[in-house]
Amino acid sequence: AVGDAPSPPPAPPPAEDISPDDIFIAVKTTKKFHRPRLNLLLDTWISRNMQQTYIFTDGEDDELKKKIGSHAINTNCSAAHSRQALSCKMAVEYDKFIESGKKWFCHVDDDNYVNVRALVKHLSQYPHTQDMYIGKPSLDRPIEATERLGDNKMKPVNFWFATGGAGFCVSRGLALKMSPWASGGHFMNTAEKIRLPDDCTIGYIIESVLGVPLTRSNLFHSHLENLQQVQRSEIHKQITLSYGMFENKSNIINLKGVFPVEEDPSRFKSVHCLLYPDTPWCPPQVAF
Ligand code: UDP
Ligand code: MN
Repeated sequence: AVGDAPSPPPAPPPAEDISPDDIFIAVKTTKKFHRPRLNLLLDTWISRNMQQTYIFTDGEDDELKKKIGSHAINTNCSAAHSRQALSCKMAVEYDKFIESGKKWFCHVDDDNYVNVRALVKHLSQYPHTQDMYIGKPSLDRPIEATERLGDNKMKPVNFWFATGGAGFCVSRGLALKMSPWASGGHFMNTAEKIRLPDDCTIGYIIESVLGVPLTRSNLFHSHLENLQQVQRSEIHKQITLSYGMFENKSNIINLKGVFPVEEDPSRFKSVHCLLYPDTPWCPPQVAF
C-alpha cells in the first residue's frame, strides 16, 4: 500500500577533504623519555609529519630543539606522573591547538606510532565544524566519577572517555565549545572537580558537560589491549599503534617486518618501513 515504503536511512554527514596540515598532533612526553621514547618517534612517523606535530614536555632539551625547533614546547609543568602534572600538559596542548587555527586536535602519548595517512582518511569523513570526539574507550562501561560542586556537595556522574594512551581527536567546532572548561587555567580546575586524569577530564567536559557522545574507533590502539590481535594485512589502516606492558607481559604487534625484535623491540621501525618504504634507512623490500 501507499506509505508503506521504509524511510531512507539518515544521510551521512558530508565528507570534507583535509590534508595533514589541517591536523594538530600533540605528543605528550617528559624529559626522561626524550631519549628512550621520543627519538624513536622522531626517526619514524614524526620525521614525515614535522609540520603538524608538536611535542609537549617538561624540560629544556637543546638536542630536541635542533630537531623540531619551536614545535618542542616546554610546558613548565612538573615532571611528576601526578594527575595535576598531566592535566597541566593537556591544558597547554589545548591552548596551543586553539592558537594554531587547525581543524582537528589529536593527542597521543610518546609510546604511540601515528599513521598520519590513515588519520587524515578517517577524519575526512567528518566536518571539523561539527561536534566530534573520536577515540577508543579504555573501559567497557562508562566511568563512574564524583563531581565536587562546592559547599561539600557531591554529584555522581557517568561518562565515556577515550583513553589517552591510544590517542584521540577532537574537532575544532567541539574544542571551541570546551573553552569555558578547558582554556587557560580552567582545565586544571575542571580536573580537580572530578579528581581524574587528563583523558578522563576531556571525556567529562565533552560527554557530561556538553552532552556530545564519544565516536568509537577501533583504529586507535594502546598497550592496554592485546596488540597481537592487530593483523599484518590491516596495519595500513590503523591510526595509532603502541607498545609496552599489558598484564605483566611485553605487548607488541605481531609483525615479522624488516628488523628483528632485538633491533626493533617496539616494531615501530618495521611498521615505518612498511608504510614508507622509500625511507633511506629501510632495507630494500620486495613488494607485498
Ligand atoms: N608521562 C609524563 N610524565 C611522567 C610520566 C609519564 O608526562 O612523569 C607521560 C609519558 O611520556 C606518556 C604518558 O605520560 O606520554 C603515559 O606514560 P606511560 O606510557 O609511561 O604510562 P602508561 O599510563 O601508559 O602506563
Ligand atoms: Mn604508555
